[in-house]
Amino acid sequence: MSSTIHQGFSLIDNNSLGIPAVCAACFDIQDVAEIEKVISGAVSAGQSWIVLGEGTNVVFSQDVNGIVIRPKFSGIDLIESQENEVVVRVGAGVNWHELVCWTLDQGYYGLENLALIPGSCGAAPVQNIGAYGVELNRFVERVDYVDLNRFESKSLTNAECGFGYRDSRFKQDLKDRALITHIYLRLSKIPSVCVDYPAIQAYLKQQGMEPTPENIFDAVCTIRRSKLPDIKDIPNAGSFFKNPIISADHFERIRASEPGCPGFKQPDGSFKVPAAWLIDQRGWKGKMFEGVGVHQHQALVLINPGHKAGAELLRLAKNIQQDILQAYRISLEIEPRVI
Ligand SMILES: Cc1cc2nc3c(=O)[nH]c(=O)nc-3n(C[C@H](O)[C@H](O)[C@H](O)COP(=O)(O)OP(=O)(O)OC[C@H]3O[C@@H](n4cnc5c(N)ncnc54)[C@H](O)[C@@H]3O)c2cc1C
Repeated sequence: MSSTIHQGFSLIDNNSLGIPAVCAACFDIQDVAEIEKVISGAVSAGQSWIVLGEGTNVVFSQDVNGIVIRPKFSGIDLIESQENEVVVRVGAGVNWHELVCWTLDQGYYGLENLALIPGSCGAAPVQNIGAYGVELNRFVERVDYVDLNRFESKSLTNAECGFGYRDSRFKQDLKDRALITHIYLRLSKIPSVCVDYPAIQAYLKQQGMEPTPENIFDAVCTIRRSKLPDIKDIPNAGSFFKNPIISADHFERIRASEPGCPGFKQPDGSFKVPAAWLIDQRGWKGKMFEGVGVHQHQALVLINPGHKAGAELLRLAKNIQQDILQAYRISLEIEPRVI
């Protein structure tokens, strides 16, 4: 079954930046058989299409000249259970945080550090969501999708997904070509936790808590709520820029003039630098420009309390990028998808 909302559908409540864009029509899809009909209809009307989850990682730079397809596949099913591990199959339309809560309730561990990341499970592999030292690709067994050119159901193994830092093939050669219907995650029945992140360690110590998966879940939720603006109160898309990775020489040159510059050494010897630190150093934090701005407590988060057009936000982003390029010779890359 698919439900259709015709003509000039407003996307303002369907993107966490609250951008008032519209599309020609929006289709909620729960059945693979509906996909060919919807796409063929768009093609014969000369329209393009985009796939949208909960809209928490997109910037509409203009109205969508075509249709929006929202995969609403539901269900969380246990499909394999061994002594120490399980594999669960999750519909693309399931909310990510609800999945994290469900897995913890069942005693299936691993996703605690990824608690409270907004959005749908279908979008999670697209940018290989990650937080507090853990990335999704650690758990992905496979991803089922429909090839939108051939209308064939296909499946990719973890290795075939091409996962990287906030990246996968779904952002590259399969962009707008693959509609993810289900993801399969391998989780542990034995608590094994990741407490690499200093903020989590500090929270557990302060609360006198053991590093159990449940306590890490609590720590992550508390830290996120204190650091990130709630999308219900202040429209935003989380981190607006990726953390840049620069060469060791480049990092040393910056450190020579700015000794406080943080950097995290990568396995290949390069350094990941927090984009928030660079933006904060240049005095952007808390600055507002006619309805758009930089969040007062988190320099990486651009906000849109004025529900301005995406072009206004992108103008601000460009000014920040130019400033960081001039000051540090670093190109900041925008993290959400610009449509
Ligand atoms: C406050 C806040 C905090 C955030 N924190 C984090 C964080 O800590 N870590 C992190 O990694 N991200 C974070 N994000 C970004 C965002 O939560 C994730 O990228 C999330 O996976 C997006 O899900 P979505 O359903 O909203 O996707 P959308 O924004 O709707 O779509 C994102 C992209 O995925 C594609 N897509 C969506 N669903 C499908 C599908 N079923 N099949 C194929 N393509 C699809 C879309 O075409 C688009 O290109 C944050 C965002 C916000 C607003």
